[in-house]
Amino acid sequence: MDSDTIAAVATPAGAGGIGVVKISGPRAIPIALPLLHPSRELSRLRSHRLYYGSVIDPETEKYIDEVLLTVMRAPHTYTREDVVEIQAHGSRCGLRAILELVLKQGARLAEPGEFTRRAFLNGRIDLSQAEAVIEVVNAQTAEGLELAARQLKGHLFEVVEEVRGPIETMLVEVEAAIDFPEDVEDIICPEVFAQRMTQDVIRSLEELLEHYDEGHVYREGVAVIIIGRPNVGKSSLMNRLLQKERSIVTAVPGTTRDFIEEVVNIEGVPIRLIDTAGLHDTDNALEAAGIGFTRERLDEAGLVLFMVDCSMPLSDEDLQIYNMVRNRKTILVINKIDLGDYSIVRRIIEQLEGLSWVEISALYNRGLEKLKAAVFREVTDQRGPADLCSIVPNLRHKVAIDKALRASRDAVEGFRTGRPAELLAVDLKEALDALGEIIGVTATEEILDQVFSRFCIGK
Ligand code: GDP
Repeated sequence: MDSDTIAAVATPAGAGGIGVVKISGPRAIPIALPLLHPSRELSRLRSHRLYYGSVIDPETEKYIDEVLLTVMRAPHTYTREDVVEIQAHGSRCGLRAILELVLKQGARLAEPGEFTRRAFLNGRIDLSQAEAVIEVVNAQTAEGLELAARQLKGHLFEVVEEVRGPIETMLVEVEAAIDFPEDVEDIICPEVFAQRMTQDVIRSLEELLEHYDEGHVYREGVAVIIIGRPNVGKSSLMNRLLQKERSIVTAVPGTTRDFIEEVVNIEGVPIRLIDTAGLHDTDNALEAAGIGFTRERLDEAGLVLFMVDCSMPLSDEDLQIYNMVRNRKTILVINKIDLGDYSIVRRIIEQLEGLSWVEISALYNRGLEKLKAAVFREVTDQRGPADLCSIVPNLRHKVAIDKALRASRDAVEGFRTGRPAELLAVDLKEALDALGEIIGVTATEEILDQVFSRFCIGK
């Protein structure tokens, strides 16, 4: 267990009604108390109560802010350590001044995610719950929040434990068979073991993977890239979808030089919309940099919106872009339908064969609902609204579940073909360890760092 005391501003940067400085560790209370006026005796402070006062620099006696202070004694706290929270006004300077005083008193600045990491290391939550904290904080849609909140309550942990149980039991028995080879036949009944593995382990894992397929986009969102030559109306579409003037719309080609990425909620799926600089030859270095970047972003995107302008026939540039996107998951967005005549639209559809298309007018707000429906269908793989009552693993969990599933299937195969107990134990252990990575019991430092690096300071 860490023995130092950590502190950080727990509320976002910027001005707000209130802001919180959080302190956790064995010296949290003695560090905070000398800052509070009127002064109070440590032994008199009751846990989980609010105390009103002011923070004053004990050295200079400078008044900093009016505050409410909460003392929470271990173990009934977020980290299971002593925790003090100082609620001050949400002024950046004021909070920084309080934090500096706290650090001067002997606390150390917390690393990103360190409060939650301590909650995990001290056994209050498992790794999947720790991960859920950051997902709850970052949730972009009500649906994403619901899934993360369910994980925070420990539902995924329960399912994983339920699956680990039978594997553990079987492993104990298989290990007994290794120790007492003469009794192997009494200890291992291959048919029963194979059946138990299939019923109690493999089915549950397959179900979790199904839930991943159905629901992960609600949690993780999808990157959707809008691509097309300059002036086809990409920024206009972006603005329509976001319902605000964020991209600069102009009639001069190539003005969207930077990538603009914003999240829009389409039926509960957080869609990260990326507007791009046009893919075209250019002498402008800035624009060229943007174009190289476009190709990279294309590779990351879950869906491409390839936009063309139907007020004129397709150009070579349109066709070049078509060649880049035709083998990706793409919707052809035929824009400026207010100006286009039917013969041009038909010709475009013929030339850009193989793509499903939607006709819109970004300027006059036509066809946008159809486009959103098409985007939703594509990113959810044509499924209707997901059953959000299920437990939906995230990508890290999915990788571990895949591993566990492979090992479990190998074990079943091993039982059926009478593989030696030593090899069966290897498969069972592998499945167990993979599942342990999800809840953290077998997670390496590397995995922990990967999980907690997504946090910011103060969580
Ligand atoms: P981008 O370069 O692809 O981002 O294109 P912009 O969004 O900047 O649009 C270029 C020009 O086309 C602007 O003058 C827009 O007002 C105009 N425009 C965009 N969409 C439409 C549309 O649906 N109909 C018409 N008539 N003009 C449009």
